[in-house]
Amino acid sequence: MSEVISIANQKGGVGKTTTAVNLAASLAESGKSVLLIDADPQSNATTSLGYNRSDYEFNIYHVLLGIKKLREVILKTDINNLVLAPSNIGLVGIEKEFYNSRKNNRELILKSRLAEMRGEYDYIIIDSPPALGPITINALSASDSVIIPIQCEFFALEGLAQLLNTVGLLKKTINPRLKIKGFLPTMYSKQNNLSKQVLADLSHHFKDKLFHLKKGNECIVVPRNIKVAESPSFGKPVTHYASSSKGSIAYRELAAVIIKG
Ligand code: ATP
Ligand code: MG
Repeated sequence: MSEVISIANQKGGVGKTTTAVNLAASLAESGKSVLLIDADPQSNATTSLGYNRSDYEFNIYHVLLGIKKLREVILKTDINNLVLAPSNIGLVGIEKEFYNSRKNNRELILKSRLAEMRGEYDYIIIDSPPALGPITINALSASDSVIIPIQCEFFALEGLAQLLNTVGLLKKTINPRLKIKGFLPTMYSKQNNLSKQVLADLSHHFKDKLFHLKKGNECIVVPRNIKVAESPSFGKPVTHYASSSKGSIAYRELAAVIIKG
């Protein structure tokens, strides 16, 4: 069975897509077979792997609608062991479809679409949009766990309570399996006092939910790193664009912790 992990935070621009793409690439680099699902109409994960809208006809929207099977929209990538279910701006329309749907299990549509392929990959990573709407709820309902990237900036923890409530509610109702895999501090800058403060607050409140490569080691933080920011414009994960950069190292460490389980 595949392990399904959503990357979620309704706050925008906190590093969800960056984490989804680079965690997926790092897991693949370690020899794991990985499906990355772009479940955000902004399609940033799709673009980050070098695909333009004109390169593919069908996307995750058609899978959610039931017009295509998941395996029919999957694209190869330049990275061994990593494949992509792309998105497209048309995916915004799915919210209306979900809303109009008479089915009372509309939170479980993505889960049912994944079911047929769950045995085929070691990991399925889902990038979600910056909202706690139906797409994110579908992603969380289909997942074994969620990684929550937290940008080390002012307002970092704002909205977190709401996200944690939603996860708790889903756990109590439609997805008892759902776990918080951990919080991942992103865009950390050690010259910046605010960054340090956010990390200190996170360590204080959620110490056992930060990622540690080894017990007693410092927690994994993704540094603010220019190579991470540049890599999407080259259509590559940072691990391929700048393999030895600090950003690559952090995402490889995260993958190692996930693989260790
Ligand atoms: P959205 O909510 O819009 O989907 P997001 O949470 O997916 O955003 P990203 O797109 O991953 O966030 O990151 C936001 C911006 O910050 C991007 O321009 C990205 O390249 C940049 N960024 C992310 N992580 C880092 C990093 N570690 N160092 C430098 N820049 C980064
Ligand atoms: Mg994103």
